[in-house]
Amino acid sequence: MIDKLVIANRGEIALRILRACRELGVKTVALYSKADREAKYVRLADESVCIGPHQARDSYLNIPAVISSAEVTDATAIHPGYGFLAENADFAERVEESGFIFVGPKPDTIRLMGDKVSAIKAMKASGVPCVPGSDGPLDDSVQRNRKLANEIGYPVIIKAAGGGGGKGMRVVHSEAALLNAIAMTKSEAKAAFNNEMVYMEKFLERPRHVEIQVLADEHGNVIHLGDRDCSMQRRHQKVVEEAPAPGITAEVREKIGMRCVNACQQIGYRGAGTFEFLYQDGEFYFIEMNTRVQVEHPVTEQITGVDIVKEQLLIASGEKLSLTQKEVNISGHSIECRINAEDSETFIPSPGKITLYHSPGGLGVRVDSHVYSGYTISPYYDSMIAKVITTGKTRAQAIARMQGALQEMIVEGVRTNIPLQRRIMADKSFAHGELTIHYLEHKLSKT
Ligand code: ADP
Repeated sequence: MIDKLVIANRGEIALRILRACRELGVKTVALYSKADREAKYVRLADESVCIGPHQARDSYLNIPAVISSAEVTDATAIHPGYGFLAENADFAERVEESGFIFVGPKPDTIRLMGDKVSAIKAMKASGVPCVPGSDGPLDDSVQRNRKLANEIGYPVIIKAAGGGGGKGMRVVHSEAALLNAIAMTKSEAKAAFNNEMVYMEKFLERPRHVEIQVLADEHGNVIHLGDRDCSMQRRHQKVVEEAPAPGITAEVREKIGMRCVNACQQIGYRGAGTFEFLYQDGEFYFIEMNTRVQVEHPVTEQITGVDIVKEQLLIASGEKLSLTQKEVNISGHSIECRINAEDSETFIPSPGKITLYHSPGGLGVRVDSHVYSGYTISPYYDSMIAKVITTGKTRAQAIARMQGALQEMIVEGVRTNIPLQRRIMADKSFAHGELTIHYLEHKLSKT
């Protein structure tokens, strides 16, 4: 087993990783920027190292600082969490070259999946259903691009191969706008991702976002833990997630899950990962793979009883997965509301001191959060301050428990999106489920 782990992240996920380490008896090293000096998880860790000033690029994204903190503390492994360096193949490579274990996939796998064109190619070859599209980068041939768009059928979407975070894509409704859209996306992609490669896909007009969680060890064992629905989004940012995805039968779930398992076997995947799909009219269309633990992993933990972070640490230690596919039992329903320090209507971030914090509790309520009364939310990082996760026998029970939890929760001193989350939990269409990724924005635009 890994002896000592560097947690190369901050906030709730740093605390989440620390808790899994405690259970496994792994010693922890918390890294922190000057802005996070007072954080609770920093005090809870066995050791801590300040890696730089407030700005993420000088601290949490500073590769030499992260690696040298593993060296000075004599750690054996580095967990990147999500965001920051989690999907940076060069970082993973430097970690391994420096003699440490990277808690995640092999660097080449991160590289393969980080480029959307190569990822789609690999997924197609492994039998994972993809969005009809260009099957590769677009070239400069006007004729070929027009022909391709006509074959796919408008509307199409032009996407940057190196894109991420919902940036670098443009929807095209007619041939008149096609060439300009390709040129614009290319130049934006070059500026934002230093990679002007773009590709074309059919634009799906009313999809849901459904994703599959997988775990793979180094002994060839791969399992899936079912699906999650993350269709409640604003500006491509997930707001509410749940598992299992409403309206998807166990047979359909098993079929798409096994496709993902097979794909992992074909590409030699290692660690935890998520296959993201758009789901429309009963069909799944792969859009990308996340080669790391995700913010919404707790809803899957709640309905399977599997500790995903613990499995990541076991896999990184060279152990076998602690269960087989047959032993994966999905029962009940779980929902996660992301609580952000932001205005509930304008979505403007609201950093500052939390003067009073009261966390909800009770049966079926889990709160993953690093904050407390007196904690100061820094303006330098993302505004998520807590994840409230409720679980029930049924979806309706999980929603009812969430309503209760959101009533109980008190965060004073900063504005939060709790009022928005309450509105969503009281929404009749949400209660029915099976909403598209556009539902929340439509709802917000009406008020
Ligand atoms: P990113 O890495 O930037 O998150 P994704 O490829 O995952 O990019 O796409 C982000 C979001 O953009 C999707 O969740 C969906 O809302 C929208 N999107 C992407 N591709 C399509 C498509 N072919 N049809 C419709 N919407 C799409």
